[in-house]
Amino acid sequence: SISSPVPPTIFTRIINKSLPAEIIYEDDKCLAFRDVNPQAPVHFLVIPRSPIPQISHVNTGDTELLGHLLVTASVLAKKEGLSEGYRLVINDGKHGSQSVYHLHIHVIGGRQMGWPPG
Ligand code: 5GP
Repeated sequence: SISSPVPPTIFTRIINKSLPAEIIYEDDKCLAFRDVNPQAPVHFLVIPRSPIPQISHVNTGDTELLGHLLVTASVLAKKEGLSEGYRLVINDGKHGSQSVYHLHIHVIGGRQMGWPPG
């Protein structure tokens, strides 16, 4: 991203391996790890290594990276056995109830979801 540097979050420590997490995938651009407070039988997060704070801060320079995160989420969902479907969620800012300001895609599955979310 070409956006300005942002304060490190707990996810920076997971990327740096200074905080343990159950990492299920990593490559040069992203990693995926299980959510510490799972909301379904399968719940993991896909994050960029680059500390983009939130989806509302991205720009066209982030297009390829964002595509990579989505494709990674899809490939990992299949590996995790979510053949009946799943939900991808990106929370943004206050109204989105975002709690960690390092962009992440939630991949949530293994049970029936409701709609609309609360
Ligand atoms: P948000 O509300 O920002 O969209 O979601 C942040 C998510 O990060 C939450 O689901 C929360 O459980 C998860 N989380 C927060 N801290 C940690 C942590 O230290 N380790 C892991 N694995 N997940 C975390």
